[in-house]
Formats: sequence, C-alpha cells, structure tokens
Amino acid sequence: QKLNVLVTGGAGYIGSHAVLALIDAGHRPVVIDNLVTGFRWAVAEDARFYYGDISDSVLVESIIRDEHIDAIMHFAGSVVVPESVENPLKYYNNNTAKSRSLIETAVSSGVKHMIFSSTAATYGIPETSPVREDMATKPINPYGTSKLMTEMMLRDVAAAHDFNYCALRYFNVAGADPLARSGQSTVGATHLLKIAVEAALGKRDSVSVFGTDYATEDGTGVRDYIHVSDLAAAHVIALEALVADPARSHTLNCGYGHGYSVMQVLDAVDRVTNKKLDRKMEGRRAGDPDSLISDNRAIKDRFGWEPRFDNLDQIVQHALAWERRLTDIQSA
Ligand code: UDP
Repeated sequence: QKLNVLVTGGAGYIGSHAVLALIDAGHRPVVIDNLVTGFRWAVAEDARFYYGDISDSVLVESIIRDEHIDAIMHFAGSVVVPESVENPLKYYNNNTAKSRSLIETAVSSGVKHMIFSSTAATYGIPETSPVREDMATKPINPYGTSKLMTEMMLRDVAAAHDFNYCALRYFNVAGADPLARSGQSTVGATHLLKIAVEAALGKRDSVSVFGTDYATEDGTGVRDYIHVSDLAAAHVIALEALVADPARSHTLNCGYGHGYSVMQVLDAVDRVTNKKLDRKMEGRRAGDPDSLISDNRAIKDRFGWEPRFDNLDQIVQHALAWERRLTDIQSA
C-alpha cells in the first residue's frame, strides 16, 4: 500500500533522509518545514514541499486534506542540548507545544498514525548499559524533557483516540546517504563526527575532546553511532507496522547496541583520510554521560529491522563524501 506521509522537518538532517527512504520504498512524502535550520535544497525533488510551521493548524489541516495524508513522520524541532539549557522555553515551545498542536491537528483531521523523532536523552544518565526502553526516563536537560513530554502526550492521545504512534529514541545519528543525495548540513554543528569531518577537510583547525577521565576504556565518552540511512529505514518499517496493526503503539530504541569512544571515532577519520586530526584535550562538557549504548532487541524483534551500515569506517566515508558535496553546494 502506497502511503501519503507528511514529513515535518523534512528539510533537516534526519527528515531529508526519511524522505529518501520513503521514496525508495514506494511511498509519497510531503514535506512541511519552516527552514529555520533546514534547507529547501535538502528536500528530494520528487517530494512536494510546503514552507510553514507545524503550529500553523490551518496550513497543516489543508495539507492533510489536499494531500490525502495517511500518516505523519514528525522530525521538526530543536536539537542542541546546551542551547536547551540556556533557553529552555524555546525547547518547550518548538518541541513540546508545537508537537501538541501538530498532534491535535492530526487527530482532528483524521490522521491515525504518527512516527515521532525521540531521543536517548529521555533516559538521562542510564543506570545500566545497554539501556532498554522500559528503563527509567530521567532526562537531565530540557531537550530530553521536551521530547519526553511529547512521548507522554502521544501515549495519552493514543489511549483516548483512534490513533497510534511509534516513538523512536535515537542514539547518536551520523553519516549520510550512501549516494550522497543528502547529509548533515547544519550550520555550526556540535556533533562529534560532523566536526571531525569538517576538520579533516580543513574547515576547522582542530577537534576538541571533551573529557578524558570518563569510566571508559580510553577515558573518552562512548556513544552508539547509528548510520542515518539505517535510522531512516527504521522509520519506514515503523510506519508500515503502525498501519498494519492500528491497535499497537511502540517506543523503541534506535542504535546498534555497541559503541565507540571519541578517540575511536577520530581514529576512524584518520584511517579513512590517511591524515592526522589535531586533537585538543579539554574538560568534560556539562551533562555528558560516560557511555550511552542502546539495547536494540525490541526494534529487531518487533519490526525485523536489521542495520545495513553498522561499520564505523563506512559511516565516516559517507559523512566525508557528503561534506565534500556540501562544500560544492555552498560555493555554487
Ligand atoms: N564530543 C567531543 N568533541 C566534540 C563534540 C563531541 O569530544 O567536539 C564528545 C561528547 O563529549 C560525547 C561524544 O563526543 O562524548 C558525542 O557527542 P555529540 O555532541 O556528538 O552527541 P551527544 O552524545 O551529545 O548527543
């Protein structure tokens, strides 16, 4: 069954890859994006695009009607943890209040399915690793709280209305489309691999290593890096599962179930580029756990999701290929 899918934030990093995955799977994505952090050119040419805000219920309602929307993939939001600490109300507006508005419009317009971009930041500092979905959620920053509040709204709305959802809790998303059709284009990015490939291509002088005294093998933070195309594929599988079984909702981790330290990530970039990044050892960044690894058995068991790009060097290669392409796009 070909589905018409409204993709909020489809001009952003993960949303633009979801658009590609939907097209590749034979569905029809329709994008809404306010282009605050996304780029119009990041949206695949085959996808219809609407410029606007998800809190504009008049606009969203007319898109749902005109495009015969069957389901919503909701990526639009703000994603920078330190910024959420400085400006929590921005996060409670963009991630929580605007999601509330979108969910309300979905329900009142008869859209029955939503896939939601959630985050491992909902766990805070997990008591055990790998972390499982039924473990306590105690976010340690407003970003994580703003996303958890949306998960709670979805849970309650699904109980009250003819509506089901899948909240996907992303671990560390990295890499780019293998065909370099999209990638991470965020200006002023703070994420490790993005910074490392920028440095490898001479766009930065060095890479800071935040904390060398963590309780990990080499003392630097360990994260579960997942290739953005594997993550996008998980969204398509989740979408099809929601439509097939409308009585069930899901909250699922998205990760590979193992991790790499900051040093291992930088080593991989050195290996792939055959150069040496200049590493600056610095103090810990506030709010960073030692290690954050997913237990991914639930998404594998329920949806049969299997990663295709669980290979750090390949993730680095794809990120580098995109970063080169981005240089061309930006200078054109
Ligand atoms: N990190 C780092 N230098 C950087 C950016 C990140 O050492 O320039 C570390 C960070 O402390 C964490 C890991 O890399 O241990 C991943 O951080 P990132 O910001 O990419 O993602 P997060 O885990 O915060 O979502």
